[in-house]
Amino acid sequence: MITRTLIVVFILIACYSHAQTISGFSGDALATQQKAEKQFDTYLKASNLDDWMKRLAGRPHHLGSAYGKENAIFMRDLFRSWGYTAEIETYTVLFPTPKVRIVEMTGPTKFKASLSEPALKEDGTSNQTKEQLPVYNAFSADGDVTGELVFVNYGVPADYEQLAKMGIDVKGKIVIAKYGGSWRGIKPKVAQEHGAVGCLIYSDPEQDGYFQGDVYPRGAFKNQYGAQRGSVMDMPVYPGDPLTPNIGATADAKRLDRKDVLNLVKIPVLPISYGDAQPLLAALNGPVAPESWRGALPVTYHIGPGPARVHLKLEFDWKLVECHNVIAKMQGSEFPEEWIVRGNHHDAWVNGANDPVSGMVALMEEARAVSELVKTGWKPRRTLVYCGWDGEEEGLIGSTEWVEHHAAELQQKVVAYINSDSNGRGFFGAGGSHTLEAMVGEIAKDITDPQTNVNTWERLKSAMAANASGAKSKKEWLGKSAPALYALGSGSDYTPFFQHLGIPSLNIGFGGEDDGGEYHSIYDSYDHYKRFKDPKFEYGVALAKAGGRATLRLANAQVLPFDFMSFHRTVDGYLKEVTALLDNMRETTEVENQMIAEKRYTLAADPTQKFVAPSSKDPVPFLNFSSLQNALAELEKSAKKFSDDIKYKPDGGPSPKELNKLLYQAEQKLMLEAGLPRRPWFRHSIYAPGFYTGYGVKTLPGVREAIEQRDWAEAQQQIELISQSLLSYKAQVDQITGLLSK
Ligand SMILES: [Zn+2]
Repeated sequence: MITRTLIVVFILIACYSHAQTISGFSGDALATQQKAEKQFDTYLKASNLDDWMKRLAGRPHHLGSAYGKENAIFMRDLFRSWGYTAEIETYTVLFPTPKVRIVEMTGPTKFKASLSEPALKEDGTSNQTKEQLPVYNAFSADGDVTGELVFVNYGVPADYEQLAKMGIDVKGKIVIAKYGGSWRGIKPKVAQEHGAVGCLIYSDPEQDGYFQGDVYPRGAFKNQYGAQRGSVMDMPVYPGDPLTPNIGATADAKRLDRKDVLNLVKIPVLPISYGDAQPLLAALNGPVAPESWRGALPVTYHIGPGPARVHLKLEFDWKLVECHNVIAKMQGSEFPEEWIVRGNHHDAWVNGANDPVSGMVALMEEARAVSELVKTGWKPRRTLVYCGWDGEEEGLIGSTEWVEHHAAELQQKVVAYINSDSNGRGFFGAGGSHTLEAMVGEIAKDITDPQTNVNTWERLKSAMAANASGAKSKKEWLGKSAPALYALGSGSDYTPFFQHLGIPSLNIGFGGEDDGGEYHSIYDSYDHYKRFKDPKFEYGVALAKAGGRATLRLANAQVLPFDFMSFHRTVDGYLKEVTALLDNMRETTEVENQMIAEKRYTLAADPTQKFVAPSSKDPVPFLNFSSLQNALAELEKSAKKFSDDIKYKPDGGPSPKELNKLLYQAEQKLMLEAGLPRRPWFRHSIYAPGFYTGYGVKTLPGVREAIEQRDWAEAQQQIELISQSLLSYKAQVDQITGLLSK
């Protein structure tokens, strides 16, 4: 039982935190925790990470592959040898792989794309051609189409507005888009909305090739034939197995018919290298692309349409495969029904040394070090659950199916989910629930940067201040006392926990000094990683330290270290952004409409070029944000009361079980009952991946996206719904405060 005194001390500590304190701990418990963490660090061995990476990335191990299954068994057995109860939980999921891939130019000249990445003698696993998945976009449609080619820059909505001004329509055409500017799945989705019949996505050397640095194998960057595989499942609608939304894809689950699935693109789409893209782009005519659209190929970038005509033929084997999640548990000594879940995916597109093995081996070493700690008599008070997800690359499949399958239990038990993925050399970054921002700040200051020997926060702050442009922005960075969490969109396995169930989540990792062009190619190999990423695995060890601290602190805290002040402050900032967005749109629309009415754009355009003046838009109304402003003002009072006033109210103490459960379930109050408009799977009212950005986050998504889409009625409705979720969240904070002051 926790005593009143402990809580009071905890709150004092939370308010005046400095290096010696750990939020959630005080007295003997604090000393025990500090000692355990020190001891934990001494067990971490970089050589383990190195050995396991060699093994796990030794052969291609994508979803459904023989080696993927061998890896799952290897990891399960390791967890067992460390004293965990470990199992492989298997789901049966849809996974299309290519049978036919053809990209050819049929006129004015003939050219056939190679669509293959050559083996290199400098890269020991690049010749494993038998087991490699070819370059393709998973969940592209089957198709056999021919059409004129149109270059569409990144292929995001703004690019099509530009095309419309130039009088260019993509209906019936095949578009070619650069990687970048959005998550890849947005490109075929928007192309399809505009009537294109096919989509090619290529890696331009400006962002991903020789313009950045020497190419592989001389340097780390993408060579002429490297290409980026990846999923184009419409994950902003829902991730996971497309056939089983909202339920676990167990062998006997009820499945949708593929034609009824809502998150699959209907046109064929294929990624190609810049080697394959160059002849196609060079054969385009029509207007020269705007300057910001041009890349680094030695051609003049034209938009088309044509005269290049492209034939794109794709056929897939739409089979069901087994998806193997590794789940390892260590039961908590005092609160076995409260779980800390820590995960990383283990599947890759090919060998995946960086993505995901670099993060996976750090997680494994963390779990092993915990088991060493247990041998000394230390115990986790809450249950630890270490997870290795399968099928992440195709659409967060393994984690989503597990979460959907166990949803009710997870919402009861999970205190927090801590995710990692690819890891490299550089700076510590963390995103997630802002209630955990204070805890992460303490961790960042507690871990030493391996290259400079200052703590990871000082390192990051120095880099941000050094790279900031202008004195004002530099000063701002220098004045910061702790790192901020970035908001989570999507792109890794935290999404089902966080945005579907409302479980407080974090995503952690190091990077920024580990550039390269190996992402989702056969060159994401052990050899590449050892030369260009984190050669000594010292950042892998640092990740194990950070993940270990987050896990062990949440596992053993007397009072879980959630802080509502930073959450309030952050959401208040989002509200200011959204109101500014609306005001800005109003002003822009007024000026635009005036320019259109006075024919200013037509007069400004070069009369020898085709120009279609944009049509005027409805004026932007004022929306009523008062319910949201009031809800936030209420929440601020409650958050303050929780963190300030409490300490002055003496005696008595709630049961830690009751108190902590209210703390970790508070985030669930932010969930929208009906979910987001047109995508009910996504239920968090504060954070979501953007419908038109994919991985990129949209905060206050319901209202922000309605404004961006100029749907004013929906924006007003969403304001009310978010306000209600914040008020019910605030009521939970009050309930916690009430318990504490009893
Ligand atoms: Zn990954």
